[in-house]
Amino acid sequence: MKRWLFFVLKGLAGILACAAFMFLYWYGGSEQYRLTGVPVLNYHQVNDQYHTSLTMTTPDFDTQMKYLHDNGYHTITPAQLKAYLTEDAPLPDKPVMLTFDDGYIDNYVHAWPILKKYDMTATIFIITGLVDKPRYLSWDNIQKMSAAGISFGDHTVSHKPLSSLNTQQIQYEITASKTQLENHLGKTVDFIAYPEGSYDDRVESAVKAAGYTGGFTVNAGRVFHGDDVGALNRVAVFESGQSTFRHFYIRLMLSTLCGYLWKLHAFVAGTLHLQRYASAIPEP
Ligand SMILES: [Zn+2]
Repeated sequence: MKRWLFFVLKGLAGILACAAFMFLYWYGGSEQYRLTGVPVLNYHQVNDQYHTSLTMTTPDFDTQMKYLHDNGYHTITPAQLKAYLTEDAPLPDKPVMLTFDDGYIDNYVHAWPILKKYDMTATIFIITGLVDKPRYLSWDNIQKMSAAGISFGDHTVSHKPLSSLNTQQIQYEITASKTQLENHLGKTVDFIAYPEGSYDDRVESAVKAAGYTGGFTVNAGRVFHGDDVGALNRVAVFESGQSTFRHFYIRLMLSTLCGYLWKLHAFVAGTLHLQRYASAIPEP
């Protein structure tokens, strides 16, 4: 009798584990963006000259864009995301938003030709105080790309972590840059990416007051209609130089699950008596 019960319990546990796995796969990897969210991929540099934790090689970037192209993904613009977030407007099938932070010159020289090759668009978040400086985009680069369908967002004037600033400084960092970008582009700038992902309630309300639709963090996860638009998730694809295809694929397909695992890891690592278990929780 006991052995029989054990057998049934084991079977039930197996079925439950399978159901949980299928749910996670559906939730993280399904094409139904209204249920599973929109992945917003976060890149920085694309080049083969030097390697930092923010760099992706051109062959790696090409492989990732080819995967998205060949598998029916559609890159969306900030205007499409804005319509989805504010009016629940429909998006194309398998939407993905490509974002680049900081505005490096290699976005123009190396990433843009690859984006054009696969007929994709992207959004570059500009630090206005660094435009025209060595290794950064010029206003001329920005205007050429903008005319050809690349979008631009704000990454503040000087890239200071916003939550470390006082209210007046926050306002300057997010409005002077927005005005300058809009003057050069002749288009409105609806989104900001927070330098180092740093934000708090003051930052969120300043961003709203400055007329932005929303702000991107570096918190892992996807974007859903109904999210707090001042703290939108992204999927980092640059982390610690792990720019292999498998790494990209896992983050793209399971970004929601990755986000939960990262949050759980951070929670356990930050909780007294639980810290020693943090290393057991993966950060994919
Ligand atoms: Zn940055």
